[in-house]
Amino acid sequence: MQAPSILVIDDDISSRFSIEATLKSLDYELHFANNYEEGWAHYLALAPCVAILNLSHFDDPERDMLKRLDLPIERPNNIIVLVENNSEHAMEACYELGINCFLKKPYNVYEICGVVERSVALKQLQNQISIDKIDLERTRKKLVAGTTHDALTQLYNRRLMNDHIEILVSKSHCNDTRFALFYFNLDDFKKVNDTCGYEVGDQVLVLIVKRLSALLRVGDLLARMEGDEFILAIEGVSNLDALALLARELLNTFSSEFKVLDQVVYITSSIGISVYPYSGNSRAELIKNAHSALYKAKSAGRNCFRFHSNKMKLKVKCQIEIEQELVRALANDEFCIYYQPKIHRKTRTLCGTEALIRWCHPTKGLIAPNDFIPIAEKSDLIIEIGRWVRYEVCSQLACWQREKFPLFPVSVNVSGKEFMRMEVLQNLIDLFLEFDIDQRLLELEITEGTLIDSVKNDNMDYEIIRGMDVRMAIDDFGTGYCSLTYLKKFPINTLKIDKSFVDGVVNNEADASIAKTIIAMAHSLNMTVVAEGIENEKQKDFLFDNGCDQVQGYYYSRPLPVEDFERYARSFIGKDKTRSIP
Ligand code: C2E
Ligand code: CA
Ligand code: CA
Repeated sequence: MQAPSILVIDDDISSRFSIEATLKSLDYELHFANNYEEGWAHYLALAPCVAILNLSHFDDPERDMLKRLDLPIERPNNIIVLVENNSEHAMEACYELGINCFLKKPYNVYEICGVVERSVALKQLQNQISIDKIDLERTRKKLVAGTTHDALTQLYNRRLMNDHIEILVSKSHCNDTRFALFYFNLDDFKKVNDTCGYEVGDQVLVLIVKRLSALLRVGDLLARMEGDEFILAIEGVSNLDALALLARELLNTFSSEFKVLDQVVYITSSIGISVYPYSGNSRAELIKNAHSALYKAKSAGRNCFRFHSNKMKLKVKCQIEIEQELVRALANDEFCIYYQPKIHRKTRTLCGTEALIRWCHPTKGLIAPNDFIPIAEKSDLIIEIGRWVRYEVCSQLACWQREKFPLFPVSVNVSGKEFMRMEVLQNLIDLFLEFDIDQRLLELEITEGTLIDSVKNDNMDYEIIRGMDVRMAIDDFGTGYCSLTYLKKFPINTLKIDKSFVDGVVNNEADASIAKTIIAMAHSLNMTVVAEGIENEKQKDFLFDNGCDQVQGYYYSRPLPVEDFERYARSFIGKDKTRSIP
């Protein structure tokens, strides 16, 4: 059978690259158009199975743009439109034209694949159903099964909730955030159906959903998993008390009766709660643990909620303690910096280093940043820690300069919260003056998320950054949703390919093509590409063979205390000045 054809109409190269990288590994025939006029011409000529249209980068108001396009087709239900999260205008205009499939930014690989697969399946199904054999009921059922919503309540169905949880897991993993699942099961719902009939039962479900939905915030997602079971996914969880409060409010919505078709129904619900990452790292584990918490709530007498484990509460308590200890650590100078070497493709020698903080805890030993930076980021402690790191690195550079030690650029990580405050730049200006070091020796690593936030908030003075010689790198590139528009707005020098792609370059086609795409894109924008987390020779060979400029990872060296790093650096310039490594 011929592969389904997909037409991508997109004027943003980076977005096109990422869609291509995502869909390439699936069995589709891909076509691309760089602008809308060309796109519609292709649409008519190719009659693709599905078209993806990016509406995110219009300068004109989208509505006018769409009218001008003068869509050549009636009810184009095979078009997927990519829109900004808040583009109500664009969506409204699309609805008017009969387009109703959207992918809102930020979206990721899973979402693109999911939406495209569903649209292709739907289109193929429509093609199969020949007009003369219309069995309306069967067709409707087939179509509903292929879509994403529950027909009774209009909520997301199980399938879409499963996709959503997968996305939350990867997003929360990357951003180091938490999310919660509330697993609802109505108490004795069967009785309602048995005594009042299914019609009343159905209407009660609709009313319950209305009441629950009224308490949800933007971003919370409620889905009907089956019968009387619902899952609510909540992002941005800061503490368990807030979740407990919400659970109580949700249960309260059941306290008054439901009136349906002249009947009065009383019903309650039980809720089991799991929280990523404490209750598990995968969708399956999180659902399983929310479900087992639900059964704890049922055996505790119903009409109540239970968390999946008490250990979870302990962990949250621990975080508060760590925060207090961090204050002490700053005062007692308990931090130190490790330096991880970067190796250059052409020379195969040391060409730079990343400064990574460590906490030398008086009783617990060396603590890795992942165990305390996310906690520091939740309070203003990160600001103090960031200042400490930059001071330490600048004073180290000054020391190397004095001792005539060969100088390499050093990158430091700057967290979003710090970067959003312009004082990072002022702090650097002060440090450069104090230590009299070359600004080009310092590179700031920020994540895609930080870049997007700072462009969106528009409180950043780009001219100050442009006026400085400090280099800027985008860390963990590929895991966020950065578009070319953002990259161009900022003076970015370097893209760092995230370790998650490096892990897969040898065995996973999609990761390999994403890595190649990032390299090509960076070079086309005159940027340097660094791959991080190289652990073996095959990964190193793949990246160097494909033009990646620098690599960093355990294959060459772990992050080292300063004396060990100096020894490592000297090994390149020892007796044999040309020494390099494979
Ligand atoms: P990152 O910026 O992505 O740093 C790279 C992390 O990957 C480092 O972990 C490094 O030790 C580790 N790594 C490097 N090569 C390999 C490899 O081949 N295999 C594996 N498995 N890991 C590798 P580390 O030092 O634990 O740092 C973790 C994160 O903590 C950093 O991720 C960064 O986001 C944050 N961080 C570290 N230092 C600072 C700092 O001074 N300020 C801020 N705001 N964040 C920091
Ligand atoms: Ca980094
Ligand atoms: Ca990184």
